[in-house]
Parts: sequence; structure tokens; C-alpha cells
Amino acid sequence: MGQKTKQTTELANKERRSFLGKAAVATASMTLAPGVIFMGMAEAKPPGKPADEKASDKNRWGLLIDTNKCVDDCDACVQACNFENGLTTIHGPETDAQWIRKVKIRNKATKKISYLPLLCQHCEYAPCIDVCPTGASFRRKDGIVLVDKHICIGCRYCMMACPYKARSFVHETITNQVPDVPRGKGTVEACTMCVHKIDRGDGSTACVDACKKYANGAIIFGDLKDPNSNIAKELTTYQSTQLRPDLRLNTGVRYRGI
Ligand code: SF4
Ligand code: SF4
Repeated sequence: MGQKTKQTTELANKERRSFLGKAAVATASMTLAPGVIFMGMAEAKPPGKPADEKASDKNRWGLLIDTNKCVDDCDACVQACNFENGLTTIHGPETDAQWIRKVKIRNKATKKISYLPLLCQHCEYAPCIDVCPTGASFRRKDGIVLVDKHICIGCRYCMMACPYKARSFVHETITNQVPDVPRGKGTVEACTMCVHKIDRGDGSTACVDACKKYANGAIIFGDLKDPNSNIAKELTTYQSTQLRPDLRLNTGVRYRGI
């Protein structure tokens, strides 16, 4: 069985178990509380911390991607992101959105080929936020850039402004949503840095977990402001770069090997 097929099978099995688990919980809730309206997944809480628990500027969450460890025949990070965020279900693709995608690049001088997972770079000086007319695009104090779906009007200025083409528009009605990651037709979305996982203290993202489990551990998650974190130590020890450093966006996602 090829690497991709094995990943697909394992993720599909995981999704089936998760789906059955959720179905059991929903059934139990309705049986235990007759008369109480089951709100369904579309009414789930918004991503991130509850309003009374603010993200702190003591942290800046980031990712470091070592392209030397990223191989051609692998999309574990993409599949994991799709599953974690409800972009794909056991019934097939829920949407054509992709919050992380693999890009092949070639160094013109050395001819070296690299494979690059590309996602929202969680810029400090984010062009998507600058152009948003309603304030729907915003940056938390801990550096995570998000879209507030309740005030996004779907104008898509942010999609045009993003130099990394990291955002996508939801054209279709969304069903079978993941409770922690509400999505909405007519709004723009992008990588949330798995904010729901961070806020519940998982200390990792779905793409990082999948890369560690199924591939070479090419992606590290951590606090860029904590000098004792692995990511900060790696950044101070080895050469790394931002994508398009000339734009001076101070991205939260950094790369090695390019
Ligand atoms: Fe905004 Fe694009 Fe930067 Fe993400 S990568 S923060 S969507 S400008
Ligand atoms: Fe997807 Fe989470 Fe990775 Fe962002 S951090 S690309 S949302 S899995």
C-alpha cells in the first residue's frame, strides 16, 4: 500500500469513528433532554477563546516548515487539515476550499526542486486586514489571523490583497460542519492555525500532528516569543526565511531549505 493510500485509509477510518462518536452524542442529547431544541453543528460556538478569555500578546504562535523534509508523494498535512476543519467528509469533498496546499518550486540558479506547504502566513502587518471594510479580518494578540464570519460580507477584497493566495471563498451551502470550526456560505476563510486546538491547550495543529505521524515531521508549531520553545531555538540556531521577505509582513510562518 502506497504512502498516500495508507494515509487516506487511516484518516478515513479516523473520520468514520469520529462521525459515529458525534452521532452517538447527538442521539444521547436528544433522548436525555426532550423538549430542548438540538441546535445542530451549524450553531456551534465560534473558533478561538471564549469572549471572556482573551488571547495574550505574551505569545506569538507560529509554524516552522523544513522543506528539506517535505517530499513530493505526500499530502498528509493537506488531508489532516481538511479533516480537522470539515473541508472533507466521509461522503466526499464538502467544498473545494483548501487551507493548506502543496506547491512545487524550483530554484532557478541551483535547479533545486522543493515542495512547499503553503497556508496563511499569519502576517503581523496583514494586507487582508488593511483592506477589509468591516473589520471581519482581524489579528488576535497572539498573532493568529482570523475571519469573523458574522461580519464578513463576502466582498473578497482580502483574497485579492493576500500575496500568498491563502484565502478562499465559500460558494456552497455547508453541511456536516465540525462543531469547533463553524463555516458559512458567502464568507471568506483561511487557515486558522487550528485556533480551537491551541485554545484548548493541545499545543499542536492538525497538519503538524499528521506530518509527525505519517511523514518526516517537517512542520513545528510553537511560541515564537518563548526563547525556550523548540521553534524559537530552531529559528535562532538555523537559517530560515519568510516567504517574500521583501514585503516586510513579519509572517508567523517561517521556512527552512528554500
Ligand atoms: Fe492575511 Fe494572506 Fe497574510 Fe494570511 S497570508 S495574514 S490571509 S495577508
Ligand atoms: Fe490547516 Fe490547522 Fe495546519 Fe492551518 S494549522 S493549515 S488550519 S491543519
